[in-house]
Amino acid sequence: MRIVLLGAPGSGKGTQSQKLVDKYHIPQISTGNLLRAAVTGGSPLGKQAKGFMEAGQLVPDHIVLGMIEERLSHKDVRKGFILDGFPRNIPQAQALDELLDKVHQPLDATILIDVDLDVLIQRITGRRTCLSCGQVYNIYTSPSRLDDRCDKCGGDLHHRMDDNEETIGNRLRIYEAQTTPLINYYRQQGKLKNIQGVGEIDDIFTKLITVLDRLTNIKPEKQREESTKMSTAKKKTATKKAAPKKKAAATKKKAVATKKKAAVTKKKAAAKKKTATKKKAAVKKKTATKKKAAAKKK
Ligand code: AMP
Repeated sequence: MRIVLLGAPGSGKGTQSQKLVDKYHIPQISTGNLLRAAVTGGSPLGKQAKGFMEAGQLVPDHIVLGMIEERLSHKDVRKGFILDGFPRNIPQAQALDELLDKVHQPLDATILIDVDLDVLIQRITGRRTCLSCGQVYNIYTSPSRLDDRCDKCGGDLHHRMDDNEETIGNRLRIYEAQTTPLINYYRQQGKLKNIQGVGEIDDIFTKLITVLDRLTNIKPEKQREESTKMSTAKKKTATKKAAPKKKAAATKKKAVATKKKAAVTKKKAAAKKKTATKKKAAVKKKTATKKKAAAKKK
């Protein structure tokens, strides 16, 4: 199963992804987590990403795409994966489609987790994440039983640097402007499903797996057929689009060749004329010299 979880910051993508990992035993690939690990590790990539993340802006596409390409080359994704927080804009979605098309492993589905704005803000400000295992809690809605410690592994709970009121506004605006166009993008591919992301975590999860089971169990073949049809159609459109350009290039090439040929012919003719003139002059000179000699003899 290859799926994308789509939703605003705080919609519960991370929480639901972890539950999907436990149920389906496929990895969660969260670009946010990968980037945070790079920042914490102080890698060059992390240093580049840090400023963008702190400001609540998107990290440049080339950084994120490089990271995703590398992650998708690991063996553990062969059985499938859950993409959480990626793609975040249309160019990322197109790059992902191309990457998956190449290995004939198209996405099965994209699930949009819908949550109202006021709920999102409360969720983001109250969010706490385990530094060791990544388990997500919320001090208002789903606190850990052990205060500042993770119920699962006992690790320290941490309030993310970008989960503050200042940055949240920015992140939500960016979601609206850059990420929501993906809703139509996947709807047009016939891959989008919505679920309401409010209520108890387990109830939301039940809705999520109901949708996924329907999508992946009942019509997996149809989905694959559709996505193959889509990529063939895409290729056809690309070829169609490229055709006038190709024709124009061929005409230009032909014109250049004709011009070159004409230039060569002209050059040849000029050389011929020059040789003929030279020959004529030589004959004239010879005749004159002969005449002069004959006159002297007389
Ligand atoms: P998240 O944990 O998904 O909320 O991501 C936290 C931050 O990481 C975002 O606010 C961005 O700065 C950055 N980020 C995560 N995923 C992406 C992505 N796909 N493209 C660009 N930036 C990203």
